[in-house]
Amino acid sequence: MTTTLITGANKGLGYETARRLLEAGHTVYVGARNPDLGREAAARLGARFVELDVTDEASVSAAADAIAADGGLDVLINNAGVEGRTDDGGFVLPGDTTAETMQSLFDTNVFGVVRVLHAFLPLLEKSSAPVIVNVSSGLALTRELVNPSSVTHFYPAVAYPASKAAVNMITVQYAKAFPDIRINAVEPGYTKTDLNHNTGVQTVEQGAEIIVRMAQISPDGPSGGFFSADGAIDW
Ligand code: NAP
Repeated sequence: MTTTLITGANKGLGYETARRLLEAGHTVYVGARNPDLGREAAARLGARFVELDVTDEASVSAAADAIAADGGLDVLINNAGVEGRTDDGGFVLPGDTTAETMQSLFDTNVFGVVRVLHAFLPLLEKSSAPVIVNVSSGLALTRELVNPSSVTHFYPAVAYPASKAAVNMITVQYAKAFPDIRINAVEPGYTKTDLNHNTGVQTVEQGAEIIVRMAQISPDGPSGGFFSADGAIDW
């Protein structure tokens, strides 16, 4: 039996990933910072709920203790994320970006990933087939953002693509340090969720596909890579 934790799984890609992995037979923990939303989502799915705010050390550590006491963890999906748009769905442009803008977004998308990894790695190391999936983005690719013919070239904000570039680097470095764990980053594609004020062009079913696939890779599968539904992506 495979036990899987998905951070930020009360909605969006995390929720759909939970649904698919439950279907595949995993025991799934829906991690959510809002206990009401998390409990409701877990009940709807038939999953377990764990309160987990990736920006809060005590919350992450309590979640790790609870899952350890319940029997441990095999698969960790670092999915929780924010894009940092304005209330009306606009972008924060470079001229308006402050250190605080960056710090607050990095606290979720980057430091949150490290916080969760640090708390859960000891549990994963006890698994016979441990897997980590870091949900990144195609916006992490500098070569695409500088290429005027790329669809992501238009993207004007600073903090989000910088945070996902950091997630990719985190993935590579942890993968080298923990060769017994399959650790990969994924690009779900531009998906219609609250994150982007529902401007995405894919469904959550399409977006979750690569997250679900990489959550189920076998111990002889790849590690330290970046994948979309179409296959491996060059860094
Ligand atoms: P979403 O529907 O907005 O879901 C984001 C989830 O993250 C929500 O459950 C949210 O919880 C949770 N979250 C935010 N801050 C958190 C925190 N501090 N602690 C715990 N949970 C937190 O967005 P999504 O599109 O599914 O995003 C999921 C992941 O996919 C993100 O990492 C995103 O960057 C990545 N991604 C998305 C797209 C896309 O086009 N949608 C493309 C590439 C990558 P609340 O409900 O409490 O806010």
